Amino acid sequence: MQVLVLPGDGIGPEITDATLLVLQHVTRALSIDLTWDVQEIGLAALQRVGTTLPASVLDACRRADGVILGPVSTADYPARDTGGVNVSAALRIQLDLFANVRPSRTREGLQHWGRTPMDLVIVRENTEGFYADRNMHSGSGELMPTPDLALSIRKISAPASSRIARAAFELAATRRRHVTAVHKSNVLGVTEGLLLREVRQVAKAHPDIAYDEQLVDSMAALLVRDATRFDVIVTTNMFGDILSDEASELSGSLGLAASINAGDRHCMAQAQHGSAPDIEGQNTANPVSLILSTAMLIDWLGRRHNNADFTAAARIIETSVDAMLRTPSRRTIDLGGPLGTSAFTSELCKEIDLHGVR
Ligand code: NAD
Repeated sequence: MQVLVLPGDGIGPEITDATLLVLQHVTRALSIDLTWDVQEIGLAALQRVGTTLPASVLDACRRADGVILGPVSTADYPARDTGGVNVSAALRIQLDLFANVRPSRTREGLQHWGRTPMDLVIVRENTEGFYADRNMHSGSGELMPTPDLALSIRKISAPASSRIARAAFELAATRRRHVTAVHKSNVLGVTEGLLLREVRQVAKAHPDIAYDEQLVDSMAALLVRDATRFDVIVTTNMFGDILSDEASELSGSLGLAASINAGDRHCMAQAQHGSAPDIEGQNTANPVSLILSTAMLIDWLGRRHNNADFTAAARIIETSVDAMLRTPSRRTIDLGGPLGTSAFTSELCKEIDLHGVR
């Protein structure tokens, strides 16, 4: 199997290099059939070929078995008509990656910032919601009728709500069998009401899975106060984006925040965070976010192709990261440890080599 690697901007190339080193070690240690090809996107591609997402790269993404996307500096991109395509959004739309699966968990011995431990997954709808680039057939979802009036259109549809709910319940069936829908139906009765109607229908089809609902504002507080009560959280695009950064930081650091964007045919590994320009080029970024995202992609490939070696490889990456994080002297700077990106990565590779011998 072959994955396509797109390093991105800011800290993207640093954490992608770290991820590729880990891939090298895990594929060698377990002799799994996984190769990769690296292609240029983002500001480097803009400078060289005039667009942040060349058409040839998009085609290669469609052909690949999976994609690993580094963070992109979208805030620094020029307008779309001068080459500034939001690569993350474009790939989510073009590959129909409707489920953004974002786990956050605390680890024994590693300081967390919430009052309780947590082990939860936010399943965020990726293809509509309050995002100007994905809710209109033509034109933008943001309008400016007069210089002093700006409007945003938020799209919620029954099919998208239903399929994200199904993804959440399928995931919950493999975990602690509990789904919480996060919404704001007290003020957005029509759109959030439609979402809840669809989620409740899916919940009815899964009587063996506990189901409850939570308003998004109280959810933000409960993640701090009592996150232990949550297992799988299903929600709309923007609520999921915000709550998952909160959950990851509470679990220790945004630098631990892994995710996949998954559809029926494609899957893309992507750290939850952005390109962190404030620490770019300093060798201080925590690469765990992209490394664990890649482990999630390998696990997705393993389940899709019924390949137990892939599932095992994903587990070895996870347990090796956990082993590193147990010891304060083996942690990265964002976690209060002494290790820069490359020192952490070479220690992690040694740990993988230990686990990988079979
Ligand atoms: P950010 O997520 O890049 O950074 C927020 C804070 O977290 C910063 O202090 C950063 O140093 C820190 N941080 C992030 N990742 C880290 C890591 N792996 N290790 C250690 N610290 C880490 O958010 P921002 O600064 O608001 O955005 C920067 C750029 O990223 C903007 O151009 C934004 O549009 C873009 N962005 C891209 C994505 C994406 O690629 N999916 C997501 C969010 C933001």
